[in-house]
Amino acid sequence: MIGVYIHVPFCRTLCPYCDFNRVRIDGAPPDAFVDALVREIDAFDARREAETVFLGGGTPSLLAPGQLDRILEAVRRRFDLKAPEITLEANPDDVTETLADAWRATGVNRVSLGVQSFDDAALRYLGRRHDAETARRACRTVAARFANWSMDLIYGAHPPASWPATLTECVSFAAPHVSCYGLTYEPDTPFGARAREAIDEDTALACYRRSRELLAGYERYEVSNFALPGFRCRHNLYYWRNLEYAGFGPGAFSFIDGGRSMNETALEAYLARPGRKAERLRLSEREIRVETLIQHFRLSEGLGRDTYADRFGRELGADFGAVLRTLMQRGLLEERDGRFVPTESGFELNNEIGLALVD
Ligand code: SF4
Repeated sequence: MIGVYIHVPFCRTLCPYCDFNRVRIDGAPPDAFVDALVREIDAFDARREAETVFLGGGTPSLLAPGQLDRILEAVRRRFDLKAPEITLEANPDDVTETLADAWRATGVNRVSLGVQSFDDAALRYLGRRHDAETARRACRTVAARFANWSMDLIYGAHPPASWPATLTECVSFAAPHVSCYGLTYEPDTPFGARAREAIDEDTALACYRRSRELLAGYERYEVSNFALPGFRCRHNLYYWRNLEYAGFGPGAFSFIDGGRSMNETALEAYLARPGRKAERLRLSEREIRVETLIQHFRLSEGLGRDTYADRFGRELGADFGAVLRTLMQRGLLEERDGRFVPTESGFELNNEIGLALVD
């Protein structure tokens, strides 16, 4: 089984903090893009069973229903979909009742809404094209049509004090899944020059802890992701369990048969040669094992000795016993019923686990 990712790199406005691969566009993406995507999917060289399809971006909610239909038809032609989770990322500004109905008709069964905040000042700071009222309307429209939906939220935008109210409002919508990410000031973005505006580490940690408190009815199943029972994001679990996925679209990554590859990033190059790889990396068995640990330790389920043995035919303790002991001594991991799981400090300082493992 694999997960299928489709990258739709178009946005109507470019948010100044965002470093994703995207281009500005008015209206729907060009049909030439959909043609290229369909060609790339049709040319995928193995028939595989897929459990998830994730349309991310960019802004997949800019696709016209007919375009979305063509893309999902191509996926169905090429992959055996098994009770698939089909997620579409949406900008609140694009959500209408008609469009949400059309998404359902194409087979989309999960919508991930880029709400980011319910505070107008924070949304302006982030340069988003929607306001809080638009976000509320989009939540109501999506919740009325999809049992499974998610909202993305960002903490650390100014004013940072708006964070608890955003979380409280999020809970009032009973979104089955919530992702909470800290704002970053990436060097290659307009925000890169404004890094001095970033909240300090203590404030960021306080925001993270507020997320835990106010989302207490949710399971924090990954460092930044919270779900009601039965609503974990099945697609993202492919990444966090370091399982295989096939990516389509400009700059999309794939991880198949021990190799990681990335498509051409620039739109023109992609349109000329859809599916051509800009990078290919064959990972050693050891690198795959290390990455598997790093990813699993983002999850509350951690990593079981038996899961590791089933996958690699080796003993977790024999391969990583020393570093696991160190991480437990540092209070970042603990062992429970044959599983190594992150402690609360392990969640809060998750990068430290990764650094120790690559050392
Ligand atoms: S944050 Fe989302 S909507 Fe904004 S530029 Fe990035 S991909 Fe586009």
